Amino acid sequence: MRIVLLGGPGSGKGTQAKMLVEKLGIPQISTGDIFRAALKEGTPMGLKAKTYMDKGELVPDDVVIGVVEERLSKPDLDKGYMLDGFPRTLAQAKALDKILEAQGKSISHAVLVDVPDEELVKRLSGRRTCRNSACGAMFHVIFNAPKKEGVCDICGSELYQRDDDNEKTIRERLGVYNKQTAPLVQYFADKGLLRKVQGVGPIEEIFARIENAIA
Ligand code: AMP
Repeated sequence: MRIVLLGGPGSGKGTQAKMLVEKLGIPQISTGDIFRAALKEGTPMGLKAKTYMDKGELVPDDVVIGVVEERLSKPDLDKGYMLDGFPRTLAQAKALDKILEAQGKSISHAVLVDVPDEELVKRLSGRRTCRNSACGAMFHVIFNAPKKEGVCDICGSELYQRDDDNEKTIRERLGVYNKQTAPLVQYFADKGLLRKVQGVGPIEEIFARIENAIA
């Protein structure tokens, strides 16, 4: 299975991707996670990506496509994978098609986690993420509060608020999503690959909807 997860920032696709990875035993490829890891290591690519991420803008296509092409050449992807946060532009979607075509492969499903904009703003401004990248658990100060404030329930590491999870940047990211990424919904629909699921409700219910959609 080679799955693309689509959805606005804060739609819960990262959380759902992690759950699906456990269930299906296939890797999650998140371009956002790759950029944050590169930034933590202080690589030139990470530092370049940060200048865009901090403003809520998209990292240029050539950088993103290069990163994904390299990742998709790794040998751990035999059983498939889940793309989370990629593609985000039409150019990226077309580049993905080309990379896969050269490998004699194709995307099997594109799942849209559908959430209204105002709900996304509410969710993102309260989001807290575990600093331990191996854990990466996410909480919400109101909807899914950790047992102890600022501490991850799962691994005990510190929780932090992502630099780009502030209201101004969130609005920027939403605008970018609606303009540049939302058209991909039609792109995958035209290919007959789109599965749309309601992204509002308990996490487990949304997960069940996604499982249904890719069954
Ligand atoms: P995410 O963790 O998916 O919300 O991504 C965080 C930020 O990383 C985005 O707001 C972009 O600045 C950048 N980013 C991640 N994936 C992509 C992509 N496919 N294309 C362009 N920028 C990206």
